[in-house]
Amino acid sequence: MQVTRELFDEVMVPNYAPSSIIPVRGQGSRVWDQNDNELIDFAGGIAVNCLGHCHPALVNALTEQAQKIWHLSNVMTNEPALRLAKKLTDNTFADKVYYANSGAESNEAALKLARRWALDNHGSDKDQIIAFKQGFHGRTFFTVTVGGQEAYSNGFGPKPGAVEHVEYNDLEALKAIMSDKTCAVMMEPLQGEGGLVSPTDEFAKGVRELCDEHNALLIFDEVQTGVGRLGALYAYMDLGVTPDILTTAKALGGGFPIGAMITTTEIAKSLKPGTHGSTYGGNPLACAVGEAAFDTVNTEEVLNGVKEKEAQFREGFAAINAKYNVFSEIRGKGLLLGAVLNEQYQGRARDFMVASADNGLMALVAGTNIVRFAPSLVIPSEDIAEGLARFEKAVASIVNA
Ligand SMILES: *Cc1c(COP(=O)(O)O)cnc(C)c1O
Repeated sequence: MQVTRELFDEVMVPNYAPSSIIPVRGQGSRVWDQNDNELIDFAGGIAVNCLGHCHPALVNALTEQAQKIWHLSNVMTNEPALRLAKKLTDNTFADKVYYANSGAESNEAALKLARRWALDNHGSDKDQIIAFKQGFHGRTFFTVTVGGQEAYSNGFGPKPGAVEHVEYNDLEALKAIMSDKTCAVMMEPLQGEGGLVSPTDEFAKGVRELCDEHNALLIFDEVQTGVGRLGALYAYMDLGVTPDILTTAKALGGGFPIGAMITTTEIAKSLKPGTHGSTYGGNPLACAVGEAAFDTVNTEEVLNGVKEKEAQFREGFAAINAKYNVFSEIRGKGLLLGAVLNEQYQGRARDFMVASADNGLMALVAGTNIVRFAPSLVIPSEDIAEGLARFEKAVASIVNA
């Protein structure tokens, strides 16, 4: 069968508008399309492919596990799930792990746990969930309601209630709305989809203090920031603020779908048998790959490498900007970076992404004014240089058009 981009419009629900390019294979930070055109990957499958494409550690873990056992359901546990859980708890604040298959599902579990914990420990009045404008937590109805963009949650009927939003980095606004009725505050320790917005130190610490003051749980959505993306295993470690519940997905499987919600023994008690679950959660194939990804990323070499590579990206963007004057600032941290378009190029992030692809570079956007980059954490320096050269060509094509 001839597979073309036109087939997408024929057979797929029209909720996505994918590029005209159809990649067929990848190796490291390079990808080849149906016509054998090569692309450099600065997108990383939206911060998922933390070790690039077909990393040998992941291919080995997947193929070895594929010869053993694929799926059991949670009627029985399995070795890869327990090994990965042990590593997640040994290396973080958490004592307990709940597995899901995506970021949204991990967040759904976190929110349900928070509500149940509040009911168990403080009664039914403590149900308020506070989150932040422009925040993103996934696309299930609960997570999209907690997310801070109404465009994603409107038009689907009555929303889950007792969810409030305040401005990110506005501690006074949070303080004003918080009370002993607050069950949980959910935040990203750097807003990804919302525009690569870093929290101020004061804000991050202040949120923790307010949660303590009102006996509310602090949930960190580290679906995008976790597993080395910002240079620490999890972003909370660099912030010096420890959440009560943390969610991780995207890079956790390095490209294989897996998510997890992690928390303390005390809070975990509220997810008693029967309260919540997932057929695939903790699937042996996913956990075997997750374990290999975790082991490979959680080394000083890879984590320090993130900071070095960030510097190379920032220098490259500065050089491009000195020549073409298109960005007002570079936002983000580690290998989650956003080039913010200046006044003259407002609303044109997608044009830059398309021009990048035309020049052999996979990039992303965050909203309409930011070109976003989330490459492999182990992208070789030559590939960064070549990708930046291609990005410069893309920028030139727009500036000179
Ligand atoms: C991507 C993302 C999600 C949703 O993850 P899915 O795997 O698409 O469900 C949730 N939170 C954050 C911060 C994300 O970046």
